[in-house]
Amino acid sequence: MPLKIAIVGRPNVGKSTLFNRLAGKKLAIVDDQPGVTRDRRYATGRIGDIDLELIDTAGFEDLSDHSLEARMRLQTERGIEEADVAFFVVDAREGVTPLDRIFADILRKKDKPVVMIANKAEGHQAAATAEEARVLGFGEPIHLSAEHGEGMSELYEATEKYR
Ligand code: GDP
Ligand code: MG
Repeated sequence: MPLKIAIVGRPNVGKSTLFNRLAGKKLAIVDDQPGVTRDRRYATGRIGDIDLELIDTAGFEDLSDHSLEARMRLQTERGIEEADVAFFVVDAREGVTPLDRIFADILRKKDKPVVMIANKAEGHQAAATAEEARVLGFGEPIHLSAEHGEGMSELYEATEKYR
């Protein structure tokens, strides 16, 4: 059985980049329904020897009838409900923002394990975010560069205990 991972966090922190890095194939296994806004993407993937089913909570292009925050909240909640573990991503360069705290509140209300990730940390930049991210209540963040593939073994170690 693959471990189901929901990748959550505010826009632009690198969730989709991480999704693509972990996904075995870029083709997500979703059925295409024309006209239906797709807020979550799915793919199978792997980290080390762990099979994953990835859920990318994405896409706020169409804000039709809900507020942005309501949409983000809803799809984040659904993603977490479907998953075994949540990867909660923040931007190591920007530090913890008020919107990150909103996502932390959503995660805290769910009874799922959270792996805290400070992304865009290539070259060990933005170590200050480690301290900051601790206040979100999910422990020491994994410093990752989804774009450059750094920190993947640390992410593996953090994920391994939930399989
Ligand atoms: P999402 O909105 O959370 O899905 O974020 P995306 O994956 O679309 O990434 C947002 C932007 O951050 C893009 O321009 C990415 O190229 C960039 N990005 C993602 N991961 C990294 C990283 O590890 N380092 C840096 N420097 N940029 C990144
Ligand atoms: Mg995205």
